[in-house]
Amino acid sequence: MSNQTHATSTDAPRGTPPTIIVIFGASGDLTARKLAPAIFNLSKDDLLPESCYLIGYGRSSMSDEAFRDYLRESLASHSRRPIEEATWDALAPNISFHAGGYDELDSYKELDTKITAIEESLGSYAQCLFYVSTPPGVFMPILENLGTSGLAKRHKGQATASKVIIEKPFGRDLQSAHELNGVINRRFEESQVFRIDHYLGKETVQSLLVQRFANSIFEPVWNRNYVSSVQITVSENLGVGSRGGYYDRSGALRDMIQNHVMQLLALTAMEPPSSLDPEAIRDEKVKALQALKPVAFTGDDPEVVRGVYTEGLVDGQRADGYLEEEAIPQSSSTETYAALRLSLDNWRWKGVPFYIRSGKRLAMKASEIVVQFSRPPAILFGEGQRFKVEPNLLVIRIQPNEGITLYLNSKVPGLETKLQPIKLAFGYETTFGSNTPEAYERLILDALNGDGTLFIRGDEAETSWSLLSPVLEFWEAQGKNGLESYSAGTWGPLAADKLLLKGGHEWLTGKEYQ
Ligand code: NDP
Repeated sequence: MSNQTHATSTDAPRGTPPTIIVIFGASGDLTARKLAPAIFNLSKDDLLPESCYLIGYGRSSMSDEAFRDYLRESLASHSRRPIEEATWDALAPNISFHAGGYDELDSYKELDTKITAIEESLGSYAQCLFYVSTPPGVFMPILENLGTSGLAKRHKGQATASKVIIEKPFGRDLQSAHELNGVINRRFEESQVFRIDHYLGKETVQSLLVQRFANSIFEPVWNRNYVSSVQITVSENLGVGSRGGYYDRSGALRDMIQNHVMQLLALTAMEPPSSLDPEAIRDEKVKALQALKPVAFTGDDPEVVRGVYTEGLVDGQRADGYLEEEAIPQSSSTETYAALRLSLDNWRWKGVPFYIRSGKRLAMKASEIVVQFSRPPAILFGEGQRFKVEPNLLVIRIQPNEGITLYLNSKVPGLETKLQPIKLAFGYETTFGSNTPEAYERLILDALNGDGTLFIRGDEAETSWSLLSPVLEFWEAQGKNGLESYSAGTWGPLAADKLLLKGGHEWLTGKEYQ
């Protein structure tokens, strides 16, 4: 078999014009842990344009030298590969820091002057990539000022038109997401905008499209006739740690489900796109999200469960409950766990439950999609109680140990006929080795190349919020009423198991089949 490759945005990076990356909030945690390592690893792989500049923007008063030292230290601690002198020396002289407030228009004008000076020194236009990496409270003033200062419109309509990456969370409900989109639409063309969800940069998530649409064996069974349920779990075993203040204003639904989990659901449920064009893919994702039925959160059979962790044992160590964590008020009713039973009202998925859940201080860290197929007819091996014929499972593991496993029933060798599920397993690391690029490398490179496939479009974000905002409003009105509890180190509240009982299912991630 020949080694087939497909053209992706990574194929032509050196052809991109001179580039200036401006990070807003550059003194922060994300820049140190993810953005700087991603930029340097791209440089190391010769994937950045030959003329590439990095400008940190923030209120901190930092000299260019101090910013370089800060990045150097960050790389030493967080880069997936050592950054050798040659890579550092190539980029370091092009790194500077621009101190300014996020709402000070004059500071943006000075930034514009600095960018023009770089262009003059190069003797050519440069494209600017503005990376908004501040807490969400300052997204709006940054976007407004990029507009008012003219930075958003630099080289409009040309290959060097400005681009902007916006970090998550994109809004805290439907209204705020709508307002944010309003500012973006006034200031930018949608093609300039890249709303990030770093989950989409992970290999397994990208490979979902390949797996579904580059193999003929899955698509015929990827529907209500053969699939009995789809489960998506994004679980963490850690608590909120030092991020309690942030987390308590967010909760599991906003922090994980609205973005990561809904993206995984959209990619799993969507119809085949007409092409690999970013808009064709995003159109199909939006259609899948639009097909989701409103969630019942009251009545006899609610489709949502929320919970909060109490003291428990994690890896044999006592772990505090959420209310004992730093910066969490005793009055808090924030959910650290949320589970939902969703259904899509469309031809492909009618009647198939999509169970989704996410939480902190759960039994293990895992992100996976489990497609559970229908049980085979009980004709041969299902007769009586002699044999247990398990449904086939396709497990798509996003982390840890990215890979795909298919569970089939097999005969145990021997004289009697005994069945046992076996697994056909593929692991990224085993097959392709370690050192896979980090999600942020892929995403920054795609944004530089104007490829929005792995980013969230404005209508996608709002469609997801329109499903979840009513749930959040209901929970907020309820306060602690109906907030279940679960011991740290377990798989969440018992009520979440009941969500699945009606369909005759159980949560699979973390069960024996692993
Ligand atoms: P930080 O809290 O570290 O803030 C980044 C920078 O923004 C700070 O260094 C500070 O820079 C400035 N800043 C902080 N608070 C305020 C404020 N209240 N008003 C104005 N400016 C402020 O954020 P992170 O780097 O952790 O995250 C940046 C973005 O990325 C956020 O939107 C976050 O949700 C998202 N994100 C972060 C992840 C992470 O692991 N850290 C993971 C996924 C997403 P200065 O004082 O110099 O202006």
